[in-house]
Amino acid sequence: MNCYDYIIVGAGSAGCVLARRLSEDPGTRVLLVEAGPPADDFWIRTPAGMGKLFRSERYNWCFQTEPVPTLRNRRIYWPRGKTLGGSSAINGMVYVRGHASDFDHWRDLGNPGWAWDDVLPYFRRSVCGPTAEDGDSHGLLTVSDPSVLHPAALAFVEAAQRTGLARLNDFNEGEHEGVGMLRATIRNGVRQSTYDAFVAPIVGCRPNLDIRTGAHVRKVLFNGVTATGIEAEIDGQIQRFQAAREVVLCAGALSSPHLLMLSGIGDGEQLRRHGIATVAHLPGVGQNLQDHFAVRMQARTTQEGSYNQHLAGWRKYAAGARYLMTKGGYLALGSSIAAAFFVAGRRSAMRTWKSASGQ
Ligand SMILES: Cc1cc2nc3c(=O)[nH]c(=O)nc-3n(C[C@H](O)[C@H](O)[C@H](O)COP(=O)(O)OP(=O)(O)OC[C@H]3O[C@@H](n4cnc5c(N)ncnc54)[C@H](O)[C@@H]3O)c2cc1C
Repeated sequence: MNCYDYIIVGAGSAGCVLARRLSEDPGTRVLLVEAGPPADDFWIRTPAGMGKLFRSERYNWCFQTEPVPTLRNRRIYWPRGKTLGGSSAINGMVYVRGHASDFDHWRDLGNPGWAWDDVLPYFRRSVCGPTAEDGDSHGLLTVSDPSVLHPAALAFVEAAQRTGLARLNDFNEGEHEGVGMLRATIRNGVRQSTYDAFVAPIVGCRPNLDIRTGAHVRKVLFNGVTATGIEAEIDGQIQRFQAAREVVLCAGALSSPHLLMLSGIGDGEQLRRHGIATVAHLPGVGQNLQDHFAVRMQARTTQEGSYNQHLAGWRKYAAGARYLMTKGGYLALGSSIAAAFFVAGRRSAMRTWKSASGQ
């Protein structure tokens, strides 16, 4: 019963895409294991609900860093999704693929197949929607334009243009420097997590795909250095699942290396200190984590300078009714409407305009 070809740990952005692709062959048995609960919540489906999910202990791991010496020993809050869809079920939904030069840099470090020109066809294949850059794109992930263009977002774009930044129609075609409106992974006013886009449509149609929620994987099991399965805690009981072919870790940038270390893959000395038997001494595991630091600035504006007024007082009921009836309006907006990328010295940075309401 508990034997599969592939076991995918984590039903987040990566895990859901893999589950869809690997289960295409009906002869391949796939298990998708997720620690969090199902994503059956109004505020997950509603784009503006992002603010409510930011500190939700039900759908979010709510990590904190260790004290950071260069930040006066402050601990930094680090949200990560914990539900079907993973972080794509709680994130800001902004669809920007990344800078071409970053992908080319990864290729240059010795990773063939990761250059911008190599990955672009896959990006194109995965998206769809009337605003996808290629009219002929019929992928599964819907990317759409903002439901409302608030005057402040238009003013932001105009102001950025006055500083000399180019107006871009799409940040996803390689050229990044400039200002423009952001696209978001929102379908008809509803958040589209990778679970919604890739897995939900096949639930019940593929008997070879099993999905377990509330299953916290504690360990990858090994025979020598070959992964053979996992141990997961389900309803307080440890259960074992076997993988005839592969265990694929998709638990995210923090939890995948953590799980490897708990399973004996990592720096041998460090593992010994925690009483973990070493399966493979790989000191790089858990090192060199890089993330972008988000500094949020807030400003006092006139009423017209923000859409907060539409989400406060009696107006919020009007916005709610509008959303329920049309799936449009301010509740259908992701975290950011407009953005500017610019080069400061040798580093590029992003500025976004967003409402401060609820976030
Ligand atoms: C608040 C927030 C806002 C963001 N905004 C944006 C945005 O606007 N645009 C954008 O492009 N990106 C955004 N991101 C980043 C983006 O969402 C992530 O980079 C992406 O979802 C990571 O995908 P992943 O598959 O690596 O991990 P995740 O999607 O985080 O998936 C990992 C999954 O593994 C599960 N898991 C972890 N450990 C275990 C275990 N031991 N056992 C079982 N399951 C486990 C987790 O519960 C989770 O579901 C945002 C992220 C956050 C948190």
